[in-house]
Amino acid sequence: MSESTKESTAIVLDCQDHGESDQIVTFYCQDIGRMTGIAKGAKRSQKRFVNKLELFSLLSIRYTELRSGNLAFINEAELVESFIRLRQSMPLYLAATVVRELTLVATRDLGGDDGFFSLLQWGLQALDSQRPALTVLVFFQIKFFEQIGYRPNLGCCVHCNQPFNATQDYGFDSRAGGIVCRGCQGERRQVTNLPLARGTVKILQSAQNQPLDRLHRLHLSGSARREALALLYQYGRHLLQREICSLKVLSDAQWKG
Ligand SMILES: [Zn+2]
Repeated sequence: MSESTKESTAIVLDCQDHGESDQIVTFYCQDIGRMTGIAKGAKRSQKRFVNKLELFSLLSIRYTELRSGNLAFINEAELVESFIRLRQSMPLYLAATVVRELTLVATRDLGGDDGFFSLLQWGLQALDSQRPALTVLVFFQIKFFEQIGYRPNLGCCVHCNQPFNATQDYGFDSRAGGIVCRGCQGERRQVTNLPLARGTVKILQSAQNQPLDRLHRLHLSGSARREALALLYQYGRHLLQREICSLKVLSDAQWKG
């Protein structure tokens, strides 16, 4: 291995054909974060790349950094985990596309890792182990917003600062980034269209406080899942100032139905 050749564990986020035989691949790497590289001859090379440069695959790659521009040269890839089960179920696959799109929107090439790799890997693994897709998406987004510095405030009303009180239900204010007590919803006429039952707030608080490897212990009822997905969808649109297309597809197809 030459000095400029490096290795990394990486997840495939995007893969586009380029010319006759090459592919341009965007990875999320364990150490350096997002990176885009060119896999020369990938469409022809049976040995080096076949069935490896697929969306979501976890790979061990060898690459050479180029001095100008940010396209690396991908020398070789070894498959570590293909997450085969999430490719065999449409709901799991759609949920994985949301995980992918959010990661692409929130990161930039060579921006460093910052913890996204673990979150991304957790999301794909949870889906691959056939946990309920929409529940995985709720917990993924709760962690995702924290990761990008916008942890939703579920501990106290964002208007009067009264701590969360389990004797009442709440609403969610996307602009203020947190829960709104019943008193503030009424007084200020800030009646939110995002109702949150007290039980939903509690389970989301737990998700915020648990490490990734304990999230499988938390369960969401159907109504809690719907409330959580609606609020995370609106919150994400507000924060990211754009539509998350894959999430909209899921929203239209599933949790509103
Ligand atoms: Zn209040």
